Amino acid sequence: MVERDIRNVVIIGSGPAGLTAAVYSARANLSPLVIEGEPSSTSDQPGGQLMLTTDVENYPGFPEGVLGPELMVKFRAQAQRFGAEMIAERVTRVDFSGPPHGVWVGDPNASEPTHRAWAVIVSTGAQSLMLGLEAEERLLGHGLSTCATCDGFFFRDQHIAVVGGGDSALEEAIFLTRFASKVTVIHRRDALRASKIMQDRAFANDGIEFLWNNVVTGILGEDKLTGVEVHNTVSGENSKLDVTGLFIAIGHRPNTDLFEGQLQRKENGYLLTEPGASRTGVEGVFACGDAQDDVYRQAVTAAGSGCMAAIDAERWLESTGHG
Ligand code: NAP
Repeated sequence: MVERDIRNVVIIGSGPAGLTAAVYSARANLSPLVIEGEPSSTSDQPGGQLMLTTDVENYPGFPEGVLGPELMVKFRAQAQRFGAEMIAERVTRVDFSGPPHGVWVGDPNASEPTHRAWAVIVSTGAQSLMLGLEAEERLLGHGLSTCATCDGFFFRDQHIAVVGGGDSALEEAIFLTRFASKVTVIHRRDALRASKIMQDRAFANDGIEFLWNNVVTGILGEDKLTGVEVHNTVSGENSKLDVTGLFIAIGHRPNTDLFEGQLQRKENGYLLTEPGASRTGVEGVFACGDAQDDVYRQAVTAAGSGCMAAIDAERWLESTGHG
C-alpha cells in the first residue's frame, strides 16, 4: 500500500461520539471514514444506543424532545454534509502498532488491513446488560428503560421497578423517587452488592421498597409495559407486580473486546484515556464516548468527547506532519 492510500482519520463507531468526531474532522478537511457498525446487530448497530430509545428530552437544542433514531439521522446527515464517508460494516480486527494503523472489516485473517489511517478514533460505545427476556427488545422505550436520568421524567406518579442490587440500581432507584409514586427494587439475593453509603441512602428513602430473592421471569405488555412476573427463589412462589415501568440496572459492558492487547483498558473493560483528553497512550489512537466513559454515559457527554477526540486527532496530525 502506498502512502497516498493512508487515510487521515478512521472513526470506528457511529453513535453521538463517533458522528460528532466525524462532523469536526470533516470540517477540518480531514475526510474521515466512519465505519458505522452492522445494521443487523443489536449491540453495534449504526447510531448506537440511541437507536434503541424513543423520546430523548435531555439533548440540548430540541425543546420539544426528539426521537433517538431521528436524532441520529440528523447527526449522520450533518457529518455527511461536510464530506464524511460512511460504511455500514463491522470492524473485525485492528492493528495499532503504527502509525499508520490498520483496520479490518470482513475477514479478520486477511493479511492486509482493509483500511489504513494515521489517526484512529475509537467510539464503539457500550451496551446495557439485559435480562435476556423475550419482551425486552419490543418494550425498550415503551415502559422498559436502562437509563433513569433519560427516562425517569416519563414515569411521574407511577409505580415502577428497578432490577439489580449494585450501585447503579440504587442510584437509579433514588433518582426515580423524584418522579414515581413508589419504586420497588427487585434483587435476586437478600443482600445488596452496592456500597454501604448507597445502601444507607436507599434504606432511608421512604419511596423505595425492596423485593428480595426475586428474579424477573417475564415482562408483560404488547406495545407498552403493563407489569412484570417475578419468581421468589427461596419460597418458589411466582407473582405479578403491577408496575408501568421497569428499569434494568444490572451493569454495562463497553464494546472494547476488539482492542484487547492493543489499547489499555481499565479493570472494568473501559478504555483508558488521559485525564481530560482522548489520547489512549498509543500514538495516533484516540477514544471517546461510552467506550471510555463509565461515569456519565449520556448522549451529550459522548458527543462532547467526540469533539475532543477530533480536535486531539487534528492537532496530533498537524504536530506530526502526517495527513
Ligand atoms: P454491578 O456492581 O456489577 O452490580 C450489578 C447488579 O446487578 C448486582 O447486584 C447483580 O446481582 C445484579 N445482576 C447482574 N446480572 C443480573 C441478572 N441477570 N439478573 C438479575 N440481577 C443481576 O454493576 P453496577 O451497579 O452497574 O456498578 C458497576 C460499577 O460502577 C461498580 O463498581 C459500582 O460501584 C460503580 N458505580 C458507582 C456508583 C456510585 O458510586 N454512585 C454508581 C453507579 C455505579 P448480584 O449482586 O447477585 O451479583
